[in-house]
Amino acid sequence: MKRYDAVIVGAGAAGLFCAAQAGQRGVRVLLLDHAEKLAEKIRISGGGRCNFTNRDASPAQFHSENPAFCRSALARYTAQDFITLVQRHRIAFHEKHRGQMFCDDSSQQIIDMLLRECEAGGVERWQPCAVAALRQRPVAAAGAPRWELDTARGPVEARDIVIATGGLPIPKIGATDFGLRIARQAGHAIVEPRPALVPLTFDVADWTPFAELSGVSLEVEIAAGSGKVAAGQAGAKRGARFVEDLLFTHRGLSGPAVLQASSYWRPGEALAIRLAPGADWPALLAQARSPRAAASATSWPSTCRSAWRRPGSRVSRCPPSGRCPRWVTRRCASSPNRSRNGA
Ligand SMILES: Cc1cc2nc3c(=O)[nH]c(=O)nc-3n(C[C@H](O)[C@H](O)[C@H](O)COP(=O)(O)OP(=O)(O)OC[C@H]3O[C@@H](n4cnc5c(N)ncnc54)[C@H](O)[C@@H]3O)c2cc1C
Repeated sequence: MKRYDAVIVGAGAAGLFCAAQAGQRGVRVLLLDHAEKLAEKIRISGGGRCNFTNRDASPAQFHSENPAFCRSALARYTAQDFITLVQRHRIAFHEKHRGQMFCDDSSQQIIDMLLRECEAGGVERWQPCAVAALRQRPVAAAGAPRWELDTARGPVEARDIVIATGGLPIPKIGATDFGLRIARQAGHAIVEPRPALVPLTFDVADWTPFAELSGVSLEVEIAAGSGKVAAGQAGAKRGARFVEDLLFTHRGLSGPAVLQASSYWRPGEALAIRLAPGADWPALLAQARSPRAAASATSWPSTCRSAWRRPGSRVSRCPPSGRCPRWVTRRCASSPNRSRNGA
């Protein structure tokens, strides 16, 4: 039976990085992954250019029942440390928006970088290689193997095990619930997983009036959740407000604004989107003599402007009652389905 100091299950972003760091500190590491291809999720990340870090990353952006959980890790390895690593590997990159760092060329460069870091740490990698069983020995002397694994390439012993099998999205590129199963098997309490950083899709009928905006991207202010700390959950965030880019798609809403808001939104809750952040919209409408003039005063893209001002379009909404100029009131009277709340 082969023996290692550490076996890391899962060769995605976390597993590759952990293996390289441990290997370079003198730990004898075996890295296992059941997928045919290496680190497919890194490859598709950032639209193929891997948004590999954010210059301003801090514990405030991490969601957890225990918000302090990430603090020590982030203090000991910062976004700048990763940027320095990327620079050391001579990978060209740029800041796209609000501190987001992307490769100039391809995500594959980040995969290759992590592989080279693993090689520098003498990491052994078995891939594809499935793990059939994982057992913990009841008692072990200090330094002795504590774990036994049955793998597709034979049995293995290890002092430490790292489960880096990732989350549930995209099973067809290797995602499984392995980590959750092992955690349950070990008796850990599980916080029920739910989707985060995802686009929002709508029922076809509800979305039809907005489908004409598909492809439009604009900066919005978006708010999801209550914005308050949940009762009984010290420090847990239950809402947030961002100024970010929103993308209309043929099925719903996407873009950084919605991806971020999705982590705070719960089914049944309202999602508030201000399409012209910073603008005093009721005053704008009150001053404007026509929908064209009102739309022109915004920084909206032209598709958005023309959809809004088209007579009969359900894209436009009324400002709060009592502050409408005559042309808005007229349009409301001829279209009783239109909402009376906010622009
Ligand atoms: C479309 C998309 C775009 C994204 N863009 C970005 C971005 O630009 N920037 C960013 O920071 N994040 C991005 N993300 C998120 C990012 O990809 C993930 O957070 C990250 O890849 C997670 O890394 P991980 O190592 O935890 O898990 P994964 O990358 O999922 O790796 C887990 C590995 O474990 C293996 N595995 C699973 N089960 C088993 C098992 N039973 N036995 C053996 N091996 C197993 C899998 O094959 C996989 O290789 C994006 C995600 C998606 C889906």
